Amino acid sequence: MKTRYLTCIICPAGCRLKVGYQGKEVVKVAGNKCKKGLKFAAEEIVNPVRILTTTIAIKSEKICRLPVRSKQPVHRDKIPVLVKEAKRIKARAPVRQGDYLARDLLGTGIDLISSCTVDS
Ligand code: SF4
Repeated sequence: MKTRYLTCIICPAGCRLKVGYQGKEVVKVAGNKCKKGLKFAAEEIVNPVRILTTTIAIKSEKICRLPVRSKQPVHRDKIPVLVKEAKRIKARAPVRQGDYLARDLLGTGIDLISSCTVDS
């Protein structure tokens, strides 16, 4: 059995988890204060994903960087290259929260949407 130490990111408590696993199967979890930590540990061992958040350039009278996020969860390993690709995208106001700014980034199936509304 292998062991990994993870910090649960489901809530601000940030429990330090000791996870025992074999292959992709979690055998034992310690350090969690609630059951959500068990689910987090299992997902983190099998397929660790995050919502990508970053900013891109925007042509606007009010701001010069637009907060954006991925529409879908992204495998943790792909985040650096997708953030780099996102930096190439430029938006132009007006933009509404949830507007698509890019679809299928680098053929990954990941779409980028605006996190806020900018009128002008
Ligand atoms: S194990 Fe439960 S209490 Fe601890 S950080 Fe995760 S969700 Fe929060």
